[in-house]
Amino acid sequence: MIRLENIRKTYESPGRISHALAGVDLHIRQGEIFGIIGRSGAGKSTLIRMLNLLERPTQGKVCVRDQDITQFTEAQLRQYRHQVGMVFQHFNLLRSRTVLDNVCFPLKLAGMARAERLRRAHEVLALVGLTEHAAKYPRQLSGGQQQRVGIARALANRPEILLCDEATSALDPETTQSILRLLLDINKRLGLTIVLITHGMDVIRTVCDRVAVIDAGMIVESGEVLDVFLHPRHPVTQSLLSESGIDAEGWRDMAQGIGGTLIRLSFRGEATVQPMLSRASRELGLDLSILQGSVSRIKDTPYGQLVIAVQGDPQGQEKLNGLFAQEGVEYEVLRP
Ligand code: ADP
Repeated sequence: MIRLENIRKTYESPGRISHALAGVDLHIRQGEIFGIIGRSGAGKSTLIRMLNLLERPTQGKVCVRDQDITQFTEAQLRQYRHQVGMVFQHFNLLRSRTVLDNVCFPLKLAGMARAERLRRAHEVLALVGLTEHAAKYPRQLSGGQQQRVGIARALANRPEILLCDEATSALDPETTQSILRLLLDINKRLGLTIVLITHGMDVIRTVCDRVAVIDAGMIVESGEVLDVFLHPRHPVTQSLLSESGIDAEGWRDMAQGIGGTLIRLSFRGEATVQPMLSRASRELGLDLSILQGSVSRIKDTPYGQLVIAVQGDPQGQEKLNGLFAQEGVEYEVLRP
């Protein structure tokens, strides 16, 4: 649905040239939740603002439904922007207007008649669970409720694409979870394509289908969230994961002084709950020690990783791989 081709963005100021985006290619599918993660200064904001041309690329194409929007006339661009909603980190609400007026405002700008505006606004306020707060002012609401207003406002025009610019970064963990659940819900119910930027792997894990990791203006890794979490390849991805407590390399310290073959098992979905270790131990006569383990969820899919040390019957060890393969568990020898 959205395709970025070799996007470059250079900012020039006296004595300094900054390459915010240094050749980005990206494909975002219709109806998915796509996350872009990176450290501060990596180029996330610049990248997401390319998608509605709040920033124009220095070079490259931004294609939406096969149309290069950088070639749009002003009128075409105005039309296109109506199909794209945006949610901001600091909500950006009008403080002197009620919740209802905040949601109606972009519809008014779009020239919609008052009765239709009100109908739409009430509809989206119900969707985000704020019907009772329509007459209040932003200062009377909690941060999470203000962000719900921000989301309602972004949805009022019935966009096809929702862009979220660090939408949960100013919220506490519990409120973050409730806003993320709301994003999941509207993605499912409205079939909306959502693109979000974040510096938190937890946000990616909770809502995204696919992820791209950006560093120094370049996409250094991308793919299905499950794949990237189970097999992060780039050092930036690995350190972002380890900072959020998902450390694939923690076993290295534990392994010193422990004998046997070291194996990493990665499992997703049903396999996670299978009591395979005890079976392996019982049927193959092996001693298995767990050096590191994590079990969690990516959206609705359970997944996990275990690093184990295997000792005992050599014939049993040879059969171990087959036993896990049977159950759909990935098997990787870390130390023979
Ligand atoms: P992120 O959102 O990942 O923190 P940004 O997209 O804001 O990163 O910034 C990427 C790089 O581009 C940074 O080095 C930043 O200093 C630079 N940059 C962003 N916007 C501007 C601007 N308007 N003028 C000059 N440099 C900018």
